[in-house]
Amino acid sequence: MRLSVVVPCFNEELGLDYLHEALVAALSRITGDFEVLLVDDGSTDATLAVMRRLHEADPRMRFLALSRNFGKEAAMLAGLSQATGDAVAIMDADLQHPPELLAQMIDVLGTGYDQVVARRSRTGEPLLRRMVSRLYYRMMNQAVEIELQDGVGDFRVLSQRAVQALLSLGEYNRFSKGLFSWIGFDTATVDYQNVARHSGSSKWTFRKLVNYGIDGVVSFNNRPLRLAVYLGMLVTMIAFCYAIWVVWHAVKDGVDSPGYVTIICGVLGLGGLQLMFLGILGEYLGRIYYETKRRPHFLVKEASGDAPVSVALGP
Ligand code: UDP
Ligand code: MG
Repeated sequence: MRLSVVVPCFNEELGLDYLHEALVAALSRITGDFEVLLVDDGSTDATLAVMRRLHEADPRMRFLALSRNFGKEAAMLAGLSQATGDAVAIMDADLQHPPELLAQMIDVLGTGYDQVVARRSRTGEPLLRRMVSRLYYRMMNQAVEIELQDGVGDFRVLSQRAVQALLSLGEYNRFSKGLFSWIGFDTATVDYQNVARHSGSSKWTFRKLVNYGIDGVVSFNNRPLRLAVYLGMLVTMIAFCYAIWVVWHAVKDGVDSPGYVTIICGVLGLGGLQLMFLGILGEYLGRIYYETKRRPHFLVKEASGDAPVSVALGP
């Protein structure tokens, strides 16, 4: 069995040598036929130079350098499109995904699964962070028809046919947690303990996390738009009842002029609501805009061996 390991890397010069060592040690125990696909996602440090050196010394370490930072989703996609293995693993470069776990995951894949995902425990994380992520997944599973699991990230092993299924989804906005779940196939889960980053620092900022959360909801269905419709109906009904009451009151007692508080509350509340849903509309419109451009998901500037400059996905 041939095994490919895809590793997206963004400014990981410090960790790649350790990764190489750990991966080769773990993979040689699984199979004699493996390749590691390092994808340089437009790093600004010496990551690419390290990759070239690793490839020189060990041709099983292949690399692909994107022309700029396209984001982890695009980097993973670039790697997947080049992977030649019967089984393809995806993991981070920072050794937060323990390579030793791959043996167990491959074993499980061999028992007839197409996806084996690693689920990390959240031990050692701040309580607040744990609570926020639990809340996020609870809400996501309500908002999106697709089942998402807490602690499950991109660390997984896929069969070649699952990889082909992923590559057949041509959308530009890629929320891979959702895509992995959308393609279906029999999926098994393997648990592991949370590990701290080996070196360098995390690329997630709070803002990126919030944006990611919004992406997750908006890129998968139109429920937020549905919510706007329901809220609109509710507000209209309340306004209608209120109007009847006001008219009845005016007919009975005449018009009493003070109404400043009611008006200001109505204007501010409705204004806010309208802006919010205008924003939601814009989110969907923006997505359509990006999809219609049909731009490639990434561009390649350098690769070990022959690699295409871009990959057109989908039918
Ligand atoms: N990464 C990437 N492109 C980016 C950001 C991150 O390829 O724009 C890679 C990064 O090099 C690492 C993986 O994605 O291998 C996960 O990133 P990170 O460790 O920063 O995320 P965290 O583990 O904190 O969720
Ligand atoms: Mg990490």
